[in-house]
Amino acid sequence: MALDNISIVLINTTHPGNIGAAARAMKAMGLSKLVLVGPADFPSGHATALASGADDILANAKVVETLDEALAGCEFVVGTSARVRGVSLDLVEPKACASQILDEAEQAQVALVFGREDRGMTNEELRRCHLQVHIPTNPDFSSLNLGAAVQVMAYELRMTHLARQGGVEVPKTKQMTHASQDDMERFYQHLYETLVQIGFLEYSSHEKIMAKLRRLYGRIRPDRVELSILRGILSETGKFAKESSEHSSTDA
Ligand code: SAH
Repeated sequence: MALDNISIVLINTTHPGNIGAAARAMKAMGLSKLVLVGPADFPSGHATALASGADDILANAKVVETLDEALAGCEFVVGTSARVRGVSLDLVEPKACASQILDEAEQAQVALVFGREDRGMTNEELRRCHLQVHIPTNPDFSSLNLGAAVQVMAYELRMTHLARQGGVEVPKTKQMTHASQDDMERFYQHLYETLVQIGFLEYSSHEKIMAKLRRLYGRIRPDRVELSILRGILSETGKFAKESSEHSSTDA
C-alpha cells in the first residue's frame, strides 16, 4: 500500500512531546514509518505520553545522525516550511502535495521532511527536496506546532488515499422512511378537523392556513414514526376538546 512507503522525517526535534504527537497523528492516519534525525531527547517518557498508544511507531522509529542517512533509499523527497523561502523549489499546497506523494509512493520510497521547532529546515536541507509544501497559514502567524503540521499533512495523505480507494466511508445514519403521500393526506385531514374542532381555523382563512401548514410539513418531511406521534397528539387534542365542550354544556 502506498501509505506504507511514506516516511515522516523529523529533523533535530527539541521537544520529545512533539515526536509523540507526530507518532499519534501518523498512526491515526495510517502512516507507520518515522525517522528521527538527531533528536535532542529520545526515547523519552514525554514522547510516549503524547503518543497516547502509538507506541509501536515510536518503538520502530529509526534514529539517524544525518538527513542523508534518513533519505537513503528514497526516490522522492518533500520538504515542509512554515515560511515561503527563496529556494527555487516547486511550492505546493497540502492537497496537491498529497496527490504527488501518493503517485510516487505507488512505486518508490518517499520522505516527507519536517524541520526544527525554532528554525525549521535550512536552505541546504530544502535543496535536498524535490518539492516544498507550505500549509497556507495566516501570513502574520504562519508557524504551526510541529505535531500539528504532521497532522495536517498526514490527514491530506489519508483523504487522498481513501478517495483513491473508492471514497471516504462515513458511518451511515439509520435510513429514514418518509411517510407516504396518502398517510400525509390523512394527517392533513385530521389536522384540519382538529383545528376546526378547537376553533383555530376561521372559515374565511382556513385554505390559506392549511396551505401554509402543508408547506411546513412538506419541508420537514416527517417519517412514519414522527407522523404517528403527530396523529396521536391530534387525537388527544380532539378528545380533550370534546370532553371540555361536554363539560361546559353540562355546566350550563
Ligand atoms: N520558525 C520556524 C517554524 C518551525 S515550525 C520556521 O520559520 O520555519 C516546525 C516545523 O513544522 C517546520 O519546520 C515545518 O516542518 C512544520 N510547519 C510548521 N508550520 C508549517 C506550515 N505552515 N507549513 C508547512 N510546514 C509547517
